[in-house]
Amino acid sequence: MGLVLIHRPGALKMKIAKGDTVVVRRGKEKGKRGTVKAVFPRIGKATVEGLNVVKRHSKQGFGGAKSAGIYEKEAPLPISALQYVCTKCGTPSRVKYKLSPEGKKQRICGRCGEVAAEPVKGR
Ligand SMILES: [Zn+2]
Repeated sequence: MGLVLIHRPGALKMKIAKGDTVVVRRGKEKGKRGTVKAVFPRIGKATVEGLNVVKRHSKQGFGGAKSAGIYEKEAPLPISALQYVCTKCGTPSRVKYKLSPEGKKQRICGRCGEVAAEPVKGR
């Protein structure tokens, strides 16, 4: 997709990371919470454990399915529809950033200031 120009660096900064608890702000799963399973920054989407589950037909062995038939799978949700939920105060909150004493960027809860867990690497 060479046509996508990013004019504002940081505009697409991912506030949601794998392992975060999020709440869905719109759509059919609105109000539900779950844990982020995977983030797809290039398409601006993320899958959330147990949310937006769709049924897929599979052939035997496809995608690690144990047997042929129908299996359920989380479909990606737009990251813009997800809001970070602080694990300490349990409140959907804005994510802020601060530098640790070591000069490392940390995500903190905009409400209580709790430092968010380090984003989990990999998928
Ligand atoms: Zn908090």
